[in-house]
Amino acid sequence: MKTSLRLYDTKTRAVHNVAAANDKHVKIYCCGPTVYRDAHVGNLRTFLLSDLIVRILNFRDVPVYVVQNITDVGHMNENFIAGNIVESTEDKMLEEANRRHIPALAIAREFEAKFHADLALLNISPANLYPRASETIDLMIAAITKLLASGNAYQGTDESIYFAANSFPDYGAISGNRLGALKPGHRYEYVDDGAKKFHADWALWKRAHNRTEMVWETPWGDGFPGWHIECSAMSMEYLQGHVDLHLGGIDLRFPHHENERAQSNSLLAGKEAVDHWVHGEHLLFEGRKMSKSAGNVVLVQDLLERGIDPLALRLCFLENRYRSQMDLTWDAIIAANTMIQRWRGRISEWKNGSPSDEVLIDREVESLINDFENDLDTPKVFQRLRALEKDLELTTNTKREVFLRIDQVLGLDLERPEALTEISAEVSQLLAAREQARADKDFALSDELRDKLALLKIEVRDTAEGQKWDRIY
Ligand code: AMP
Ligand code: ZN
Repeated sequence: MKTSLRLYDTKTRAVHNVAAANDKHVKIYCCGPTVYRDAHVGNLRTFLLSDLIVRILNFRDVPVYVVQNITDVGHMNENFIAGNIVESTEDKMLEEANRRHIPALAIAREFEAKFHADLALLNISPANLYPRASETIDLMIAAITKLLASGNAYQGTDESIYFAANSFPDYGAISGNRLGALKPGHRYEYVDDGAKKFHADWALWKRAHNRTEMVWETPWGDGFPGWHIECSAMSMEYLQGHVDLHLGGIDLRFPHHENERAQSNSLLAGKEAVDHWVHGEHLLFEGRKMSKSAGNVVLVQDLLERGIDPLALRLCFLENRYRSQMDLTWDAIIAANTMIQRWRGRISEWKNGSPSDEVLIDREVESLINDFENDLDTPKVFQRLRALEKDLELTTNTKREVFLRIDQVLGLDLERPEALTEISAEVSQLLAAREQARADKDFALSDELRDKLALLKIEVRDTAEGQKWDRIY
């Protein structure tokens, strides 16, 4: 079943229609959070991508099934060695557990709950399933057993199990990083010399050695899973061996998704496991990559503390296209907060105006949905909505209805009443006086009254139907 949603596919480097291979629902897998810390707003930009896609498909009555993993074991920290990113042997979860002197799983549950709370604050609809890595070890062991049997994996001299990159000749199709071109140490996990057979091989299962927490028994010794096998095992199990749409941030393209594809396709004896790979570009904050060391990590909590509606952040993200790197600033968030309030104000004011026109509503909504479906051209949607807001031809209730229908995709709660103050007696008198001045053709007075109203944050416009006013936000 081909849908009308067209998205850029990283592997084929072209825009394709999203399709449901089983003709029933679109199966989506979205790489989830590593729950050792709060999700920052960059992570949330990527999580919003899946929500946006789901809302667009649902708008067209296309059913979806979304799986998002919770990584609570096996995601190793990255270090820089001689300019290359290499994985250290420290699990992100355990490092945090050691720092705080509490069990790793206690930290995992704490940040998993916060992750769900953040999603709710941004109106990101929940996935259908959130499997936890620590609770799906059996699936990973079964997948690794299969890869050992098929000759795609082997036990290294350090007793860890590795995927043999050379056993998957199509390696590199997503990122362009073909095996022949990769140099040892280049963005590959660090392993003691000689433990693996080829520098581009990666660990599916790591032998515990000195590690005592989060360790599981297996036929090949006790240990813990690698990060990449988690997503293969979960997507193959919970999406029944086929993913229509796979999502994640651009940094996951390589090596995470490249390795996942090699694993999943090998488990399927060479069949393509994923039809469509979609990656969201990164979020920068005030020009720099968000990181603890740069001191520019922003959380949803920071918005709440400044009295900003978290949906202002959602609006900021939507104003930028998912495939462009985006630089967020506090000024942009504050401007978005003002805009959301203005739109909510309009929605309640427009209700009292002229009646709606169904034909025009359908036409406007259809063209806005087409923009969404055109590889998520959200900047165009906002351009159109801004023009629509000012449009003098459409009746107020037509505009209201278009905004509300599109809000099913935008998710900005535009119908939520904003605490708008009633217009004051002074404004009301000035408006009446200006109407009279226009009727008397006293344009000098009318202009003078317009300026007075502007000082009181009221903008007046003269239309075929007479004088109209708006608040200036
Ligand atoms: P993590 O919790 O670090 O495993 O990341 C969760 C998701 O957030 C992944 O899909 C990452 O690709 C994505 N991500 C990480 N940093 C950023 C960023 N600055 N902007 C957008 N997405 C990001
Ligand atoms: Zn993943």
